[in-house]
Amino acid sequence: MADIKPYWQNYIDGAWVDGGAGRIDVTDPATGETLAEHALADVADVDRAVMAARRVHLSGALTAMRPIERGRMVQAMGRFLLEHKDEIARVLTREQGKPLWESHIEIEGAALYFEYYGNQASTVEGRSIPLGAGYMDWTEYEPFGVSAQIIPWNYPIEMTARSLAAALATGNACVIKSPEMTPLTNAWFALASEAVGFPKGTVNVICGLGHDAGAALAGHPGVNQIVFTGSVPTGIAIATAAAQNVVPCVLELGGKSAAIVHDDADLDAFENDIRWGIYFNAGQVCSAMSRVIVHESRHDELVARAENVAKSLSVGPGAERDTFGANMGAMVSEGQRDRAVGMVARAAEQGATVVAGGRKLNRAGAFLEPTVLAGVTPEMEIASNEVFGPVLSVLSFKDEAEALEIANGTDYGLVGGVFTADLDRATRAARQMRTGQVFVNEWYAGGVETPFGGFGKSGYGREKGREALWNYVQTKNIAIRLKG
Ligand code: NAD
Repeated sequence: MADIKPYWQNYIDGAWVDGGAGRIDVTDPATGETLAEHALADVADVDRAVMAARRVHLSGALTAMRPIERGRMVQAMGRFLLEHKDEIARVLTREQGKPLWESHIEIEGAALYFEYYGNQASTVEGRSIPLGAGYMDWTEYEPFGVSAQIIPWNYPIEMTARSLAAALATGNACVIKSPEMTPLTNAWFALASEAVGFPKGTVNVICGLGHDAGAALAGHPGVNQIVFTGSVPTGIAIATAAAQNVVPCVLELGGKSAAIVHDDADLDAFENDIRWGIYFNAGQVCSAMSRVIVHESRHDELVARAENVAKSLSVGPGAERDTFGANMGAMVSEGQRDRAVGMVARAAEQGATVVAGGRKLNRAGAFLEPTVLAGVTPEMEIASNEVFGPVLSVLSFKDEAEALEIANGTDYGLVGGVFTADLDRATRAARQMRTGQVFVNEWYAGGVETPFGGFGKSGYGREKGREALWNYVQTKNIAIRLKG
């Protein structure tokens, strides 16, 4: 591809380097063609990256710095991303499939993390603890040291920004393992760290296979803390590796999140929640609104509206979709698309009605029609397994207790929503939903400032908000025996 450089390297200890495991093809999911090659790290590369980060940590370069200055550098990284937004967006759309306007949103969202956490670097304060006249006692928060961050392919820029910004703001050196399907845009984090003047080795960005470089990073004895965003089985493998080294980890895993729609809900407004909740990024969002549980009295009306929303979206190459509108891009790969098609077909065999979509487009590329399934019941596979695609499952309920039972009936617990004009009903549902976030009357209500993370198999620990800062620091208590 003329406009995208053909070969991209890893970034270790301030240098662009080839990978010990060779190269991997990066495919444009909108065409199925190879877009570029990326260096593939092996275990030795991982070791070099960890040791570089460890050297920076032990040098004290990051911790000696006044936090407000470190915060300024973190903020400058966000501005760097915005200054290169058009360039990054073009690559992001080509490697991931999302429309160009969605790539812009993702990069703006990423920049916000650097602004938000950079701004808080100087607020990570300890406290003084009174122990009587003979002592002076206080706590300090110290960075763990080397933070390893293992990134998924659905939001490669935003997911990296989320952990990297908070880790740097608190003074950690970082090794990022970029996703092997969408590794290209992570290069801009290396460029940004260099541009703002972080010492060599502070930010290392390597692409490698999960079971190889990913596993080596998760199990490396030089890593002091791990952040993982991805699937449940990988999360379990990473938590197991972390346990072997007795280091903490944050797990942001999948979801099968439900919106409960009551008989008094505003369905005009809810159409917008369907549009964003399940068709943004072609549904490849961990907190997607993949289930709607609607009161039986509004079921048919809601299904008709969902069908309209799905059919109103034009699907095609993200690079041609540069302005915000009723459109959707490719899924990340044909494999992911075919998996989603298979799940829809099995749901139909089990009795669900395919109201819209369900088929791949008759053209090259990983395209799937925006899909709505009605008549889904809790025992069907589609009701509890994550599709990670543009597939909405509609279930119905008779009373509030049943709605909550269905909503809470999966192993996951990432987010949930309740749509009603009745504040008491909304509050009751919010308190009973076993999820890390509850949206009332707007899916995705919240932002970089609000803590995010799961209950159950959706993981543990929180990213975003003030909470996330505490992932990257450990408490030290200092007690002085006074003579006087
Ligand atoms: P995945 O688990 O297959 O891969 C995620 C990352 O882990 C990749 O970088 C991969 O190379 C690496 N990896 C794979 N095996 C590994 C191993 N044994 N050791 C160490 N690293 C390994 O997930 P995916 O398919 O890239 O992403 C989709 C999943 O991520 C979905 O389930 C989705 O819900 C979840 N997700 C969650 C969030 C969240 O914030 N909760 C955000 C985005 C995606």
